[in-house]
This record gives sequence, structure tokens and C-alpha cells, in this order.
Amino acid sequence: MLVLKGRVLDGNGGPPMEQGAVVLEGNRIRLVCRQSELPELPGAQVYTTECAAILPGLIDAHVHMGWGSATAVDWISMTPQLSMARALRDMAQLRQQGYTAFRDLGSDVILLKPAVAEGLLDVPRIFGAGKILSQIGGHGDVYQKLSLEGSMGAYSPDFLVNGVDEVRRACRINARNGADLVKIMTTGGVFSQGDRATPHSHFSAAEIRAAVEEAENMGSYVSSHAQANRGIRTALENGVKCIEHGFYLDEYCIELMVKNGCFLVPTLAIMHASKTYFSRTSGVLPDLREKTEQSYEAHYKSLELARKAGIPVGVGCDFLGDEAFGCPYSQATLELERLCAAGYTPMEVISMATKTNARLLRMEGELGTLEPGKLADVLLVSGDPGADIRVLRRQENVKLVIQDGRVVKNLLDGEKPQ
Ligand SMILES: [Zn+2]
Repeated sequence: MLVLKGRVLDGNGGPPMEQGAVVLEGNRIRLVCRQSELPELPGAQVYTTECAAILPGLIDAHVHMGWGSATAVDWISMTPQLSMARALRDMAQLRQQGYTAFRDLGSDVILLKPAVAEGLLDVPRIFGAGKILSQIGGHGDVYQKLSLEGSMGAYSPDFLVNGVDEVRRACRINARNGADLVKIMTTGGVFSQGDRATPHSHFSAAEIRAAVEEAENMGSYVSSHAQANRGIRTALENGVKCIEHGFYLDEYCIELMVKNGCFLVPTLAIMHASKTYFSRTSGVLPDLREKTEQSYEAHYKSLELARKAGIPVGVGCDFLGDEAFGCPYSQATLELERLCAAGYTPMEVISMATKTNARLLRMEGELGTLEPGKLADVLLVSGDPGADIRVLRRQENVKLVIQDGRVVKNLLDGEKPQ
């Protein structure tokens, strides 16, 4: 049995419980109470630290394990082996930051699930879409300066599909590989070469509806990469349940999202990293720079519309694991900081990165809040992230990471026992 003592931020977003305690037994949370109410627990291992805060394990709702570079031209030399080696690095970095689960929206990381089940890998919980469905000439057709055959032949985290039958086939291949949801792209994006930030959409209504039906057949949902307004609309009108990025939302989109119970995952951190990169690097990737500049402000305006309408907002950094570009997974909590910069309070952002993100993993009954009976994914942090979210970006502050009841990171060894 493990007992954590400190200020408890339970993930529900209410005021913290001072002098609190969380008791873990096996892989479950047994008790959350004040320290004064703790029963006798002979033999229990007790953990605390200076200015200790206890919170649910963080979840990132938009990652791509193993891409390794923010530059499309580098991706052409990628192999599955290199990508998986990088994915292992990315997952280890997330774990050090306090992430105990993630939602991968485009990579082959779901193929590692059997290795996790066999006990060969100890990584955060994997929930993933497998390969992304993109139309020809879409955001997933990233090598548009090659012939179509060349682009389709390169190793990539995408399926380039054409027509309803190919959409269904790609969804079923992903499901066969262990996918938990379906990811499509109904607009172009910042990092692909041929498309634009201006009004457009990708995929027909029938293709989107086919993906939605296949996802529902899997007992899950479709999330769409959607930045330009027209592509957000077509996604929402045809049954998509979560919008990724959502740069150009309008009142009509917001209405549909409220009516259909849709989520938004804004991905502010990757745009911030891009902007920062371009502010200090000149003469490279002009398309990418232009699209970043065009979309940066719109992104925050859209998020403000969603916030006012009470749309559930998930937290996802959309990093690519590229240290030089400023988006390694060791900095994933930059997304939480950007959400605070956008007007959310730190307590709201913690709840979004735990409770709301657990809903995006369809695991809200098991993860996301500190409540008796839930799975024991818990952090002990030094500092007060409920007052200043930046506490979380310093890995030395994340003292203890517990996943499924197991201590998977422990910086408290050597500190005086309590
Ligand atoms: Zn992404």
C-alpha cells in the first residue's frame, strides 16, 4: 500500500484539499481524505516532499510518437524501425514529465501495444488512431513535390485514400492493428507543402460519413484535423466528434459543436514553438512560416469562442519530438502554459489535462480524477501547479510518477523519509 501526502488537486477543478492524503492499493486508488482522517495503515509506504501537490497522471490528447522532425523533407528518409526507436524516446520523455497516458493521432505506436502487454515495454498508456486518413493532395500527402506514386510509397503515418471504399478499408486496417479511434484530415495543415491556410476542405461528405460509421462500428469516434473553416464545417456536419486545431471556428461551428457534444483540442504549443523557431531562424521553410503567421492569432480567437460556449477542450501539444525545432516531448507541458496564457486558470487546465482528456480516451470511469476505485495513475509534485502551471515543466519538480499502482519515476529516494 502507498500513501501520498500533500495538497490534493483531484482533477475535478475545485479548490485543492490542503493537508490531504491519497491511499493506493494494488493498481487502484483506495482513499482520498485529509491526513487527519487517515486510518491506521501498518506497513504502508509513505511519500511526501516539500510543498507537495498530488494530482492525477497527466494525459496528452494529441501526440505523434516517433516522427522525430518538424520538417517534411526529413520524413522521406524515415523507416518504421527509426520511428519506433524515436517513439520509445518520446514516451520516456512524456513519462518523466508526469504523463501516464496519451492519445496518439497519427503514428504506428499502436503496434507496440502487444509488446506492452507482454511486459517488454514500460511506457505511458497508449490510446491511438494508427495511421491518419488523408485525401490525395491533403495534409497527409506530405511529399507533394514528388510524384503521387513516390509520395504514396514513402513510409508515413498516413493512408492516402480515395473514395468511400478506401476510407472503409483504411479504417478496418487500423482497427485490425489495435486502433482506439479514427483520425481523418478534413483540411490541409501548416506542415505540409502543397496546401493552404485559406478556405478549403478535404474529403467528401460521403467519405467523412463512412469514416464515422466505421468508427462507430469500432465503438469509438472520429477526430478530425481541421483548421480552415470549411473543413471544420464539413467534419461537424457529418458526425465528427472532436476537432483538432480548429483555427477558424465561427458561430455556426460552435453551435454544431454544442449540439453534437463535440470536443476541441487546440494544440497551441506546436504553433508557439513554430512561431518562436521562425522568429530566430530566417530563410527556411517559407510556406510553413507564412501559414504559422496567418493562423496564430485566429487560433486564440477560436479558442475564446469555444471557451465562452462551454465546449470541452482537451490538452494536446501536437509535438513532433524535434529538439532543434523546439518541440521535444520533454517540453510537452508547454501546452498547459499556453492554455493559461489563453485565459484558463491553472486549476482549469489541470482538470482539462486529466479529467477532460480521460473522456477523449473514453476512460473517464477509470482515469482522470483522484477518486476511490479509479486506476492508480498519480503524481507527486514539488511546488504548487494550481497557482503556477510552469512548475510542471521542470522535470526535477515531478518527484513521483505512479502508473497502474507502480512507481515508475522516483526522485524521492535519498530524501529524508517522513
Ligand atoms: Zn497532429
